[in-house]
This record gives sequence, C-alpha cells and structure tokens, in this order.
Amino acid sequence: LTSKLQQTFKKLKNKGKLTEKDVKDAMREVKLAMLEADVNYKVVKDFVNSVSERAVGQEVMESLTPAQHVIKIVNEELINLMGKNESKLNISPVPPTVIMFVGLQGAGKTTMAGKLALYLKKHSKKPMLVAADVYRPAAIKQLQVLGSQIDVPVFSLGDKINPVDIAKAGIENAKKSGCDYVIIDTAGRLHIDEELMNELINIKNSVTPNEILLVIDAMTGQDAVNVAEQFNNSLDITGAILTKLDGDTRGGAAISVKAVTGKPIKFVGIGEKLTDIEVFYPDRMASRILGMGDILSLIEKAQEAIDEKKAMDLQSKLMHQQFTLEDFLEQMQQMKKMGPMKDLLKMIPGIDSSKLGDIDIDEKELAHTEAIIKSMTKQERQNPSIINSSRKRRIAAGSGTSIQEVNKLLTGFEQSKKMMKQFADMQKNMKKGKIKF
Ligand code: GDP
Ligand code: MG
Repeated sequence: LTSKLQQTFKKLKNKGKLTEKDVKDAMREVKLAMLEADVNYKVVKDFVNSVSERAVGQEVMESLTPAQHVIKIVNEELINLMGKNESKLNISPVPPTVIMFVGLQGAGKTTMAGKLALYLKKHSKKPMLVAADVYRPAAIKQLQVLGSQIDVPVFSLGDKINPVDIAKAGIENAKKSGCDYVIIDTAGRLHIDEELMNELINIKNSVTPNEILLVIDAMTGQDAVNVAEQFNNSLDITGAILTKLDGDTRGGAAISVKAVTGKPIKFVGIGEKLTDIEVFYPDRMASRILGMGDILSLIEKAQEAIDEKKAMDLQSKLMHQQFTLEDFLEQMQQMKKMGPMKDLLKMIPGIDSSKLGDIDIDEKELAHTEAIIKSMTKQERQNPSIINSSRKRRIAAGSGTSIQEVNKLLTGFEQSKKMMKQFADMQKNMKKGKIKF
C-alpha cells in the first residue's frame, strides 16, 4: 500500500493544479492500493468517495501544493474513518472494571491479557487475570507464567469447571482482594462456531463486562472484517485490539474493523514481549498506512505556520542580538524532526523537486555541528566569544571533531547571526513602512 500510494502522490507532485481528473486518477490508484492491502471493498468505496468529494473543488491551501493538499485530505479521512481520537477504556463506577477478551485462537488474547495487566499496573491500577480458557492445553499455565512475570495475580479453578463459573468466581475474588481491574482470558477456536459464541454470550450475560474487547491478529487481512462482524453481531463488542502490528502487515484490518463494526480500536500489540503494547492512535495509524510520517508531520507544521510563537521569539532574540548557539541547536533539532533535509526541501512550495537531485545536503555535517554544540558548556553556547583555543581543543575532543571544524562552525554561526539580524531589521523596517516596494 505504502509504495503504491507514494508512487501515486509522486505523480501528482509535479502538477501545477489539481483538476477533477487528477483527483479521479489518484483515487483510482488509492482504491487499488487499499484493496491490495485487504481493506474491505465497501470500506474502500466509501472512503474513496468521501475523499474525492472533498478534494475536488476545494481551494488548495496556500502553503501546500495541490498534491500535498490531497495527501492532507486522504489522511484526515483515514483518521475520521478510524475514529479521530484515541479511545479510553470504559471504567466501572464501582470497581472492579471487568474486561473480557474474545477472539479466534492464536489472535494473541492471552499475551494481550498479560500486556494489558502490565500496562494497567504501570498506571497504578491493581489488575487480576482470570483464566477462563479451559480448552486449549496449557492455556491456564500460559497465563500463570505471564502473571508471575509481571507480578499480577492469576485466578484459576483448573480446567474442569465451567468458564462462566470461573469468570464469576474470579470477579468475586478480585473484589475481596481489592483488585480494581479484572481481565478475563477466554478460549478461542480456529474458526467461529456456535458453541464458542454461546459460551462467550453466557459469560457476557453472567458478568456484564464493562469492556468486551475483540482481539484480532492484524495479519489476518481481509478476513479480519468477517471476524469482527460476526463477533460484533453476537456479542456487541465494545472495542477491538489489533495484535502483531510488528509483523509485515499492511494495516488493512485497522481501517476495516472500525468501519464495519463502528467500534473503536483501543490498543495495539507490537511484539511478543509484555511491554509491546501501545494505545491505538488513529492519526499514527493513518500515517503508518500512508507511509508518510515525515510528510504528514511537515504538512501539520506548515499549517501551524511553523510554530508562530517560536518564530516570533526567535525574531525578537535576533533583533536583540540574543540568538545563541543553544537556539541554533534547538533549531537544528527541530529541522531534524521534520525528516531528512532533502525531503524537507522537496516539500517547500515553489521548489522544483526535479532540480533537487543536484543538491547534496550533507547530513553528516549536520550531525557534526550538533555534536560540537553539545560538547560545549551552557556558558559557551550562550556566549561563544569566551571560546579560546584551549576550550576549542576540549570541544573538538569531546565531539570527536577537529579544531578546524569547531572554528568553521563558530564563524558560520557568527555569519548567519549577522545575516539573520539584517533580515530581521529589514522586516522591522518594512513593518514600519521605511522600505517600500
Ligand atoms: P490466543 O490464542 O489468542 O490466546 O493467542 P496467544 O496469546 O497465545 O498468542 C499466539 C501467538 O502469537 C504467541 O506465539 C504470541 O507470542 C504471539 N503474539 C501475540 N501478540 C503478538 C504481537 O503483538 N506480536 C507478535 N509478533 N506476536 C504476538
Ligand atoms: Mg489464549
């Protein structure tokens, strides 16, 4: 999906204006790419329609190229589709909060039960795990091992007792021992069948959980939609958890689950370790699906007009000759956050990206500059004039560079400071009306 979309947007990038046909062409490829990524076809259709509707006839933001504007809309719609904001756990007004995990065998329920327990523990909660999978050999043992690793109690009655009774007894036990969260690990099957569903419905009816979270393996692709639909129809789930996002998945399931069930994704599993759990952020998932993290954050930054307040602060510092090496370093770090310099330049409206091939931006030099400034003391950064030759020697050694390089940086800094001062003065005068064009 990623490379397909990137190709599509690259095609758009060099065009001056976005016509209806451009949008249509682009959307055809977006559609194909999404279908290829196993997104449900109906979801794809709705998505493409709403994005096209928004894209055609919309005025392109001044700070963006038309293609960037399409990316922006695609991204926004993708976030809309997945639920805008992160979705918190439903909490019981009277503890304990009961969370029931459901899903197919091998989806990652038991592992996620351990992960969520650890996550809650880190947030100063007292979780208890309840072993209600009495079918899979060693399922209880698996949960007990996880529990002991994270020092969380595991309630079990062996595998001879009915899961409904285990769940009920587990909650009673949690109340007695002052646990405020109960996570019920249930059994799965390789395929959905009536027996499984009936058992889960029975558990649901007897313990009325605050959350019924469907655990889905992100690798299941197109099938994830059917699984989500069936579990939701039978159990009216409250949300989903997507596991194995660390694998080579294309994110299709994430888009579909919310769209098909209307229920939010709450957490994601990103590895086999118990710490490999993250809150699900639709915006992050959207950039993951589009594979355009840097570009999207750049668009965001363009929208924020590159943090106006910071720019103003900087300008005032320049005017008062207070621009220090520390500011310089901060600026550079901000630039670095935006991604490689070359990509950054490509995104600046008005720059012909086809000519950028010749420009060689030396990332290594940037890294050296950063190292040099970091090797300076706070005093030296604020007042570079105190840097004498012995200080230079120390800085060069500390940063693994040479005295020549330190000198070069200091002269460069002084020069750019002068230039920026002139620029700032000019702007000031322009505002005062002294300079007219
Ligand atoms: P259950 O049958 O639904 O309880 O699934 P399990 O919790 O037993 O997990 C099945 C397998 O998937 C195990 O080998 C886990 O280690 C693995 N697994 C679970 N979650 C993740 C994840 O987020 N990433 C990866 N790579 N593996 C996972
Ligand atoms: Mg299990």
